[in-house]
Amino acid sequence: MILDKFDIEETHYEVLNVKEDADYEEIRASYRSAALSLHPDKLLKTFDTTSSNQTTTDRFLKVQKAWEILSDSSSRLFYDKELQSSRRDVMAAEVAEDLTLQDMSAEDADEVLELFYQCRCGDYFSLDSSELLKMGYSLLRDGRSISISNGDTLPGSVILPCGSCSLKARLVLNMDNNH
Ligand SMILES: [Zn+2]
Repeated sequence: MILDKFDIEETHYEVLNVKEDADYEEIRASYRSAALSLHPDKLLKTFDTTSSNQTTTDRFLKVQKAWEILSDSSSRLFYDKELQSSRRDVMAAEVAEDLTLQDMSAEDADEVLELFYQCRCGDYFSLDSSELLKMGYSLLRDGRSISISNGDTLPGSVILPCGSCSLKARLVLNMDNNH
């Protein structure tokens, strides 16, 4: 396995083993089971060596910390923003192309609109409209032209990995209001 040099520290979501769009109940359930299995009281009864106890204690503190942040909606929101911007910074280094919605081809797929753009390697950079919706952008399709229907959203960008190679493209959103 090749180590990803851009691998950032484990996120609070990864610590609790939940998806980033998990709701409060899911996060709480995951926290409870993690905390239960790692709780220091329980460890005293085990025959772990000191060093692995130490690791488990670190783990327990990580779980506690993650729960503190994610259980509070305002601190979670703040954390999500930080996470997003740190990812943007990290990934910007590898971006091969800057794209706008006009550059993307679109195809209907079930309930969503699939957007794609061909990479140099022949495979595609792609994402679908549900992913954009999660970021707060709803798409409007008018024949062949695709635009963002909620024009008051802030400009943003999303990094699209290629399906095959390590290149990435940056899709710049909502920057075409003046056209
Ligand atoms: Zn590629």
